[in-house]
Amino acid sequence: MSTCIRFVLGDQLNLQHPWFAKPDKGAVVVLMEMRQETDYVVHHIQKVAAFFGAMRAFAEALKKGGHRVEYLRIDDARNRQNLAENLQWLAAEHGATRIELQEPDEYRLDLLYKSLEKTLGIAVFITGTHHFITSRNSLGERFPKAKQFRQELLYRQLRVETGVLMDGNEPVGGSWNYDADNRKAFDPKLRVPEPLAWEPIPGLEESITQADIKTLGEPGKNRRYWPITREEALHTLDDFIEHRLPYFGPYQDALSHAHPFLFHSRISFSLNAHILHPLEVVQRVEQAWRAEPERIPLSSAEGFIRQVLGWREYVRGIYWHTMPNYATANALNHRAKLPQWYWTGKTRMACMSAAIGQSLTYAYAHHIQRLMITGNFALLLGVDPNEVDAWYLGIYADAIEWVEMPNTRGMSQWADGGLMASKPYISSGQYINKMGNHCKQCHYDVNARTGAKACPFNALYWDFIDRHRTLLQRNPRMAMACRTYDKFSPTTRAELLEKAAEVKAGVDGV
Ligand code: FAD
Ligand code: SF4
Repeated sequence: MSTCIRFVLGDQLNLQHPWFAKPDKGAVVVLMEMRQETDYVVHHIQKVAAFFGAMRAFAEALKKGGHRVEYLRIDDARNRQNLAENLQWLAAEHGATRIELQEPDEYRLDLLYKSLEKTLGIAVFITGTHHFITSRNSLGERFPKAKQFRQELLYRQLRVETGVLMDGNEPVGGSWNYDADNRKAFDPKLRVPEPLAWEPIPGLEESITQADIKTLGEPGKNRRYWPITREEALHTLDDFIEHRLPYFGPYQDALSHAHPFLFHSRISFSLNAHILHPLEVVQRVEQAWRAEPERIPLSSAEGFIRQVLGWREYVRGIYWHTMPNYATANALNHRAKLPQWYWTGKTRMACMSAAIGQSLTYAYAHHIQRLMITGNFALLLGVDPNEVDAWYLGIYADAIEWVEMPNTRGMSQWADGGLMASKPYISSGQYINKMGNHCKQCHYDVNARTGAKACPFNALYWDFIDRHRTLLQRNPRMAMACRTYDKFSPTTRAELLEKAAEVKAGVDGV
């Protein structure tokens, strides 16, 4: 008879956790596929499959390592489909007198965990995940007087503390940030490497459909693009370092009509499910750069390391610093509905159709597609951040609330009033045209602001400036756009607003 149940969430698949250092006869490790987790938002089918597949592989790895494991599949008749009820009967069945949990990454689960001891009447102990580099409350602790938190400050502290990309006390190369070298547009002559992919797990997506779980997006068909085991995740990281890292920096903002993954790493799911540790990722990238600086530009290595060491830790800090209020923030009082085609990709706007289409096909879009295409359009349109959040949380395989919400509500929709982003991330069609080749294939004319063929981003951009003018003119980074708008003739302004009203009224058909 065991005395302890150790419950592992689907995003806590860390084989290096001290729990698993050696088999413990007094502990049963428990994993559960539950409707509680599949139903709180509509998820992409490949996201559900990635989590279930990764959990099953993790359970097998533990069993091979000699651990006692209890795994509840979604269709297991014993499965009550929610955590408290499952723990209740499992504790009784195994004679457990205590339940051990790892600190969850999401606020809703944190609340649930805190109530479990009372609900179950069994001693509950919560331990760390040994995953992140900073603590949950790092922003408040490190910057107690800050009114706004800037990623760059945390990033520099973490470079010093971890020694990553440091020469003694100085940043390598003499600069903390090489972004100025990193803003190249997509070049169709570039050879983009084939993405790594694996066989789908036989029957897994079918079992999700049979369990009647409501999902969105397309099944993985013959290919699985999300690594689910530690071996696959390390292989993906090594493949990135070998074939993509040299181009990552210059082309991280580029947009391509033909290449969904471009030079990005696709390790977000493995990181967020704790299969990879952020420090091992950045150290591997640093080692590769130090070994081959002539092949891997410092701007690429630094640009990538900043995403993982800086941005990822920073958004987690924002989440825990601001929850639960962040979940309802709507500083711009946006109330519009998300256009229907966000769920189908069926729009004549080539950039939107490509970004949404690949999201439905792969459960993936890269950062600039999320920020400057789908996010930009929703922001210009004035969509309710709750709707935008639900879409991002459902559609991407890497979407877990702690990382999705600050990126969506804060960075992309400016719903936190500038806590994260010093200005709203908005642009007309010109930025999208500059960074890639979508506009060449588009029904709309990126250079036209009014008329039937005018790119919808253009009038919406000036409409946004007009709507939020009082707020924006106080922001030095938006002042120029406000001044440009003021220089338009009253007739031009009226035409732009009329065109924007037309786009909004017919948005489901653009
Ligand atoms: P790469 O471009 O190769 O970057 C490497 C890694 O850096 C990523 O895997 C990720 O772990 C980290 N990273 C990069 N940017 C960020 C960021 N802004 N915040 C946190 N980590 C970052 N990322 C998620 O992991 N989950 C989400 O739900 C999510 N939602 C987003 C929503 C919006 C509106 C926006 C603008 C961004 C969102 N991001 C999210 C951040 C980023 O877009 C993804 O991390 C990235 O596209 C994942 O693909 P990749 O692994 O190929 O990343
Ligand atoms: Fe997107 Fe406008 Fe370019 Fe079409 S013209 S691809 S809608 S930016």
